[in-house]
Amino acid sequence: VWNNCLEVIRQEVPVQSFKTLFEPIKPIKLQNNILTLEVPSPYFYEWLEEHYVHILKKAIDQELGPEGKLEYSIVVDRGNAKQEPFTLKVRNSSTPKNNTVVNTQPVQQEKPQQRPQQQQQKQRKFEREQRPAFRSPFEIPQVDPLYQESNINPNYVFDTFIEGDCNRLARSAGLAIAKKPGVTAFNPFVVYGGVGLGKTHLAQAIGNDIKTSYPDKFVLYVSSEQFTQQFIEALKNNNVQEFTNFYLMVDVLIVDDIQFLAGKEKTQENFFHIFNRLHQNNKQIIMTSDCPPRSLQGLQERLLSRFKWGLTADVQKPDFETRIAIVKTKMESEGVIVPEDVVEYISYNVQSNIRELEGVLISLIANASFMRKEIDLELAKTTLLNIVRNTDKEITIDFIQQIVADYFGITIEQLVSKTRKKDIAMARQIAMYFSQQYTKTPLKSIGNQFGGRDHSTVVHASKTITKKSSSDATISQTIDNLLKRMDIK
Ligand code: ADP
Ligand code: MG
Repeated sequence: VWNNCLEVIRQEVPVQSFKTLFEPIKPIKLQNNILTLEVPSPYFYEWLEEHYVHILKKAIDQELGPEGKLEYSIVVDRGNAKQEPFTLKVRNSSTPKNNTVVNTQPVQQEKPQQRPQQQQQKQRKFEREQRPAFRSPFEIPQVDPLYQESNINPNYVFDTFIEGDCNRLARSAGLAIAKKPGVTAFNPFVVYGGVGLGKTHLAQAIGNDIKTSYPDKFVLYVSSEQFTQQFIEALKNNNVQEFTNFYLMVDVLIVDDIQFLAGKEKTQENFFHIFNRLHQNNKQIIMTSDCPPRSLQGLQERLLSRFKWGLTADVQKPDFETRIAIVKTKMESEGVIVPEDVVEYISYNVQSNIRELEGVLISLIANASFMRKEIDLELAKTTLLNIVRNTDKEITIDFIQQIVADYFGITIEQLVSKTRKKDIAMARQIAMYFSQQYTKTPLKSIGNQFGGRDHSTVVHASKTITKKSSSDATISQTIDNLLKRMDIK
């Protein structure tokens, strides 16, 4: 069954993700229409659920029918895991209607308050206070009533949000708001920044913190798309008033990715109204956006002008030190010991954003588990090479050497050695040429990294390759292929 599922999945995901994420999964049993899969780590499982739940659901639906269910068994079984191996069962709970895989991520999920009903809401709020608040972190968060209520991911807390120069202001404003929601000067609070830099995590951390310190406050997280969908639904069903009233009950409203409200005039109008009423009543409003509010196209001026009442803070790309801290913390929480050089290698090479950094760590763990190898520099390099590269990533000499050596089927040692064997010398010249063209490294340092050659050798190599690439079709083809492998072309 799992093999058939894999076929379905293979159609849907990029080859590389398929290799790193799906191939390491082992089916362990099928009983009562429940397929149990073994995955290498909790982190892996969360990643899978967050990004691939729809595809998994599709595969299970096709193979087991609508009654099919999925269970995960998490095994810590890695070369250098700290703990003794243990197995943890994670059950996928199911809604009565649909017995298949259930989403753990609220962000993508249809929520009960889709159709707001004050009475029901009050009732649920009451019920939730009767239930124990504590849940095992690995249990499907969806069964946590607190979670469902607020639509917040309980894992997004301040404790796991690493501070760095890139997010210091936003984070400390967030902490201040969490202490006194609604009454600080930071209302509304707008966090903006590029993708994968922690906006959602921070916004939800504020929400989670408030839920803990002020259990009576009604905290609600919605993405702009969810808000829009609910509004359209309300329009269709003629209950815009109910929709609005529901939102007016909220004490802390978190609206994620407000750039998606652009051009949606009616939705914005309604949001403007809700915004004003909440603000007047000292209710906290937190918003995120992918660019500074003033550059938000398609948002009404009157709405934008309201944002000036509060605080706008950005999250930026993490610097090297912050990336180191993130890699260390995430691997520690996974119970994996990672050698210092690996930590540095990854932090140096994955610069674009934190989400990508997490992806690399997941693949690394998966690869280690899959290939039954220790996590070392070699494995880190292979893992990184295989991962879809981000175009704004800085190219390093290490990276170039690895790609070129791989391509010519030689080792890096051979590449930088003194040998004058024709093939190797050619590969070396090409690698030097790339290093000169695509890194900002001074010629002298390039020479150094190629077995201590001097800068004139680098210049010569560069010239030779430039010349040959315009006269020799094989060379120009080789260069082309290599550029593609490096994701430059
Ligand atoms: P955005 O909403 O800006 O696109 P997210 O909040 O979804 O980004 O963050 C992407 C991933 O990176 C999440 O898994 C999140 O937990 C993680 N992350 C982001 N910022 C941090 C941070 N400062 N410390 C630790 N993890 C972070
Ligand atoms: Mg986000």
